Amino acid sequence: MKQEQEEARASVTEVAPDVLRMELPISMPGLGHVNCYALLDGEGAALMDPGLPGPETQDVLIHRLAQAGLRETDVHTVIITHSHPDHFGCANWLQKVGGARIVAYKSFGWGIGLGPHGHDHEVSLDDLRAHADAVEPPEPEESLEERWQRRRERLSPWGGSPLGVSLEGRESRVAEMMGSGKYFPEISHPVADGDVLRLGGREWFVRFTPGHTSDHFCLHSPELEVLLSGDHVLPSITPHIAGTGAHADPLKLYMEALDQVAALEHVSSVLPAHGHPFDNLSERTQAIKRHHFERLDHTKQIGGELGAASVEAFSQRLFPERSWGMMAESETYAHLEHLRHAREAECHSEDGKLLYVIR
Ligand SMILES: [Zn+2]
Ligand SMILES: [Zn+2]
Repeated sequence: MKQEQEEARASVTEVAPDVLRMELPISMPGLGHVNCYALLDGEGAALMDPGLPGPETQDVLIHRLAQAGLRETDVHTVIITHSHPDHFGCANWLQKVGGARIVAYKSFGWGIGLGPHGHDHEVSLDDLRAHADAVEPPEPEESLEERWQRRRERLSPWGGSPLGVSLEGRESRVAEMMGSGKYFPEISHPVADGDVLRLGGREWFVRFTPGHTSDHFCLHSPELEVLLSGDHVLPSITPHIAGTGAHADPLKLYMEALDQVAALEHVSSVLPAHGHPFDNLSERTQAIKRHHFERLDHTKQIGGELGAASVEAFSQRLFPERSWGMMAESETYAHLEHLRHAREAECHSEDGKLLYVIR
């Protein structure tokens, strides 16, 4: 089993001075827990990535915080590395119960198709609703939940599977809660690359790292020699690259952002959002890049065999059958678009589907 798939353990561990690791339960494809980090100071704690929305995670979080001698009202800051629900879930609740300020990247986009993709400004839920209305006017009497469902059923840009991922069990309950809109936090403190946050009594530098999502960032403390890497660099799995984000060539941006974190001085420990702390950052970024170069080569080889083919057709050759669907197609789309931008592929539209030809 990959370490990212391990179930959440109840123990709370100090992984750097005044930095605690708390594992919260999730069960998503390939993931068994999310690491929520607490940065302690005299006033309480800043929490990074407080798990999925809903009362189940809240209860676990209350329990984990208690082990550290903290209550939920002691959380004065919540940092959200990127707009996936297992990373921002309890932010809204912490904001309500304790008035926590919410830190996220300035282009935070909710990761579920409700966000103002490509817009570079602070967003509130009202902004999001207004933007969603402008892009896709609501049907009369349509609830936010129904509208969210309708957007999920919308076809992907490449004319393949609908954008919504089919969800089961806990995740479908999360989807229902998300649809109600009541778990969206208000981003009170939008940040940008190079910003400095004072957390846990130390300076943390914001490093913009798009690719996994278009609004992902890491935090780096040169003093502690720690990088909080979110989902940008994981210890043993390759993070998913979203082809549907705000940027034209997300794979290129992602690989550039890997080089940027690998080049940081003063990183001796990496604390990822899934899996255990690790210290071989540069080796790990090289391995992830190698995976994508091999994937690009494989994509070209498949294109040579298929001729003009849809994203779906490419993805079904690249991924095993159990992975077929929106996630696989989105990542395949990112690889094909990367080849197209490098002039190694061409693309045209036929009956609403994009067809790619390798040159
Ligand atoms: Zn993620
Ligand atoms: Zn994640």
